[in-house]
Amino acid sequence: MSTLQGFTIPQTQTAAIVPAVGSDLEIKSQHPVKQAKDLKPGECLVHISHTGVCHTDLHAKQGDWPVKPMNPLIGGHEGVGRIVAIGENTPNSPVKLGDRVGIKWMADSCLNCEFCRRGFEMNCPNVKLSGYTVDGTFSEYVVSYTNHVTVIPDNLDSAGAASILCAGVTTYKGLKVSNTKVGDWVALPGAGGGLGHLAVQYAKAAGLKVVAIDTGAAKEKMVKELGADAWVDFKTSKDLVADVKAATGGAGPHAALVTAAHKSGYTQAIQYLREGGTLVCVGMPDAEMGANAFWTVFKSIRIQGSYVGTRQDAVEALDIAAAGKVKVIFESKQLKDLKDVYEDLEHGKIAGRIVLEVSKE
Ligand SMILES: [Zn+2]
Ligand SMILES: [Zn+2]
Repeated sequence: MSTLQGFTIPQTQTAAIVPAVGSDLEIKSQHPVKQAKDLKPGECLVHISHTGVCHTDLHAKQGDWPVKPMNPLIGGHEGVGRIVAIGENTPNSPVKLGDRVGIKWMADSCLNCEFCRRGFEMNCPNVKLSGYTVDGTFSEYVVSYTNHVTVIPDNLDSAGAASILCAGVTTYKGLKVSNTKVGDWVALPGAGGGLGHLAVQYAKAAGLKVVAIDTGAAKEKMVKELGADAWVDFKTSKDLVADVKAATGGAGPHAALVTAAHKSGYTQAIQYLREGGTLVCVGMPDAEMGANAFWTVFKSIRIQGSYVGTRQDAVEALDIAAAGKVKVIFESKQLKDLKDVYEDLEHGKIAGRIVLEVSKE
C-alpha cells in the first residue's frame, strides 16, 4: 500500500448516512475510515474537500427509482478531493498520490466487457454507482477507483469543479449526442435550473443557438446573461410549441435537451422539433414519455437517451470549464446542512446547484 507522505489517515470521520430506504439522514462524527492497508487493488482513498448535491441523491435517499440503492448509504456523486492512499498491487494506475480528482456517478466499471469496450461504460453489468451502490461523497473520506476518478485541471477550483462531475458531464454528453452542428438551434426546457444553466453554456461553447424555456424574470435574466439567444416563458406563453418554433425562425429547433423530471417536457419537444430533429432525454421521470408515433415517424424525429458520460466525456467537460467557458452557479453550504438541503430539494426550493464544503483542502 502507499499513503501520501506526511498525511495521517484518521480512524474516524464525519459522514452523512441514510440508515434505511426513506429514513432521515444522520450526520455521524465517528464513522470509520477505511485504512490504506485495507484498500483492494485498484481502490484509492480520496480526502473530499467539496461535493455537489444532485437531485439523484434525493432519489437514492427515498429509494423511489426502479433500480434500488444499497442501505445504509452515504450519498453523493459530485466529489472533489485529493488521493491520500492507493491500494497495494494496483498496476498501471492512471492517477497518483496527491492528485486532485473528481468522483462521478459512475464510480467504476470493468473496462473489459462489450459495453465498456464500445464506450458505454455506464451500461457495464458490473458498474458501481457512487452514492447508490457504493458509498459516495457525503463524507470526509471515500473509497474510489483509480481507473475512473478524473483528474481536475489545475486552473479549475474544487468548488467550481464539483457540479461539473454530474450536472456538467450529463448536459455536455447530451449535447454531444444531439446530432447538432455549429449554428443549429437547441431547445433547453428548464434552462434556468441546475442542469439547464450548464446546458446553456455548453451549447454556446459548441456554437449552437439556444432557445431557453423556463419561467420568471430572474431565470430569464440569468439565461440571457449566459448567452441564450431566445427565451420562452412556459407560464406566460399561450402556445409553447408555437412560441418555440417562432423563436427559431419558424421551423423549430434542430434538437431539444430535456432535463426536466416531468414527462410534459418530452411530449412538447416532439411537437416543436424541426423535421429530422433529435430529442435527447436526460431527465428521468419514471413514466411513459408519450411520444406520438405518427409525428415521430412523419417528422423523422430521433429519440436519444443519454445517461451521464464516460471518463472521456468528463475530461472534456472539465476542460471546457477550465477554459472559462462554463461556470457553475452554486450556493456554498456545509456537510452538516445536508438535511436542510434535502428538504429544500424535496420542496423544489433549490434554484441552482448546492456545493458542500466537506473539509479544508
Ligand atoms: Zn447527479
Ligand atoms: Zn464493463
